[in-house]
Amino acid sequence: MATDPRQFDVIVLGAGAAGLMCAAVAGQRGRRVALLEHNGQPGRKILISGGGRCNFTNLHCRPEDFLSENPHFAKSALALYEPQHFLELVDRYGIAWHEKTQGQLFCDGSARAILDMLLAECELGRVEIALNAGGIAVERSASGEFCVASSQGEFRAGALVVATGGLSIPKLGATGLGYELARQFGLRVIEPWPALVPLVLGGAEAEWTKLAGVSAEVVAWADGKNGKAQGKVKFREKMLVTHRGLSGPAVLQASSYWRPGEALVLDLAPNSSGLLNALRQPDAHRDSAALRQALREVLPQRLAGHLAEIGAPQGWSNAALEACERRLHRWEFHPVGTEGFEKAEVTAGGVDTAGLQARTMEVRAVPGLFFIGEAVDVTGQLGGFNFQWAWASGVAAGRAC
Ligand SMILES: Cc1cc2nc3c(=O)[nH]c(=O)nc-3n(C[C@H](O)[C@H](O)[C@H](O)COP(=O)(O)OP(=O)(O)OC[C@H]3O[C@@H](n4cnc5c(N)ncnc54)[C@H](O)[C@@H]3O)c2cc1C
Repeated sequence: MATDPRQFDVIVLGAGAAGLMCAAVAGQRGRRVALLEHNGQPGRKILISGGGRCNFTNLHCRPEDFLSENPHFAKSALALYEPQHFLELVDRYGIAWHEKTQGQLFCDGSARAILDMLLAECELGRVEIALNAGGIAVERSASGEFCVASSQGEFRAGALVVATGGLSIPKLGATGLGYELARQFGLRVIEPWPALVPLVLGGAEAEWTKLAGVSAEVVAWADGKNGKAQGKVKFREKMLVTHRGLSGPAVLQASSYWRPGEALVLDLAPNSSGLLNALRQPDAHRDSAALRQALREVLPQRLAGHLAEIGAPQGWSNAALEACERRLHRWEFHPVGTEGFEKAEVTAGGVDTAGLQARTMEVRAVPGLFFIGEAVDVTGQLGGFNFQWAWASGVAAGRAC
C-alpha cells in the first residue's frame, strides 16, 4: 500500500453514477483524481437499474421533471449537459439502445455496458479508484485542504466532491454520509424521504390487497393538502395492486409527491366519461350486477367486481349514480405509509440547493467542496431522469473541481 497521506487534486466520494462521471471528466481535464467507494465494486445501482437494462436518460428531460425545494436550481446543470451529450458518449462506445416509451432510453443488452463505459472514461482520465474504502471521515485543514481518512488510507486534495447518493436500498451500499458531511460543513439538509416507492394500505383499505396482481391505466396524484403546489402533478400510467398496497409507474410517480397524512387520488377510468349512462336510462336494471357489467367494459374484471362491491351507489337514483361515477374519477386512498428506503428507487430531499452554485455544484461558503447526484435535493421522476441528473451534476462539478 502507498504511504499515507496520498496527495491528489480531487477526491470524489462514491463510485456511483454521478461520482464516476465527475471523476472521469475531472481526470480528463488533467486533474489527479482519487475515487473512493466503500463497496467492493463500483456502480452497483447502475447494474440493477432499469430491470438490468439501465434507463440511462430521457430524451424529453426538462427541469419540470424534477422535484426540489428550488425548482429552478437544476436548470443550469441540465442545460450544460443534455441527454444528447450522454447519448453521443453511448454511441461512441457502440452501445446499442432503444427508446421504450416517452423518450426513455434503455440498453438493448446489459446495464453493465454503461458501467464499463464509465470505467473506461475514468481510465482515460487516469482516475485512481479505491474500493472497499470504509470508515470515511473528512477534515479540512487550516490551508483549506481536504483530508479524507478511510480504511484504505489517508487521501488529501484541494477539492472534494461528495457523490455518495441517498438512502435508497441500503443493501446496495446507501448511507447517509453525504448528509452528514453537508451538516459538518454548515449546509442545511432537507429531511430525506423515500420516493418512487410503493404505498402501503391499511385499515379498511387493506381489503384492496386481495386484488394483488391487478393492473390498470389510471391517472394518479398526491393530494398535496400540505400546500405544496408540486403535489398536484398528475401521472397517467399503469397502477398495480400489490400484496401490501399500491404500486406500478403511476403510483410510484405520485409517491414522490405524497407525504404522510395526505390522500393519494386515482382516476380509475381516465379514458371514459358517461360510464354509467346506460344505468341511468329509465328502463335500465339498477343493481350491483349491472354496475359490475358497466365497469367491466373499461376495467379489469377483478377490479370492476371489487368496485361494484365497495362503491355501489346509495339508492340507485340518477344523482347517486352520478356521484358514484364522479368518485370513480377521483377515488381517494389514505395510505398508511410507504415501503420505505428498502424499496424506494430514489431519495427525495437532501442537501439544500440554496448552499450550492447551480453551474458547478460547489458549496458557496466552502470553496473546493462539491455535492452532486442524488445526495442533492433534486429528484427526478421515473423514466431516466435520475441518471440524467447524476450525469449532468457530475459533469458540472467535474469541469469545475
Ligand atoms: C432498483 C433501482 C433501479 C433504478 N433504475 C433507474 C433507471 O433505470 N433510470 C434512472 O434514471 N434511475 C434509476 N434509478 C435511480 C438511480 O440509480 C440513482 O438516482 C442514481 O444512481 C444516483 O446516482 P448517485 O451517483 O448520486 O448515487 P449512487 O448511484 O447511489 O452512488 C452512490 C455511491 O456512493 C457509495 N457510498 C454510499 N455511502 C458511502 C460511504 N459511506 N462511503 C463510501 N462510499 C459510499 C455507494 O456505495 C454508491 O456506490 C434506480 C434506482 C434503483 C434503486
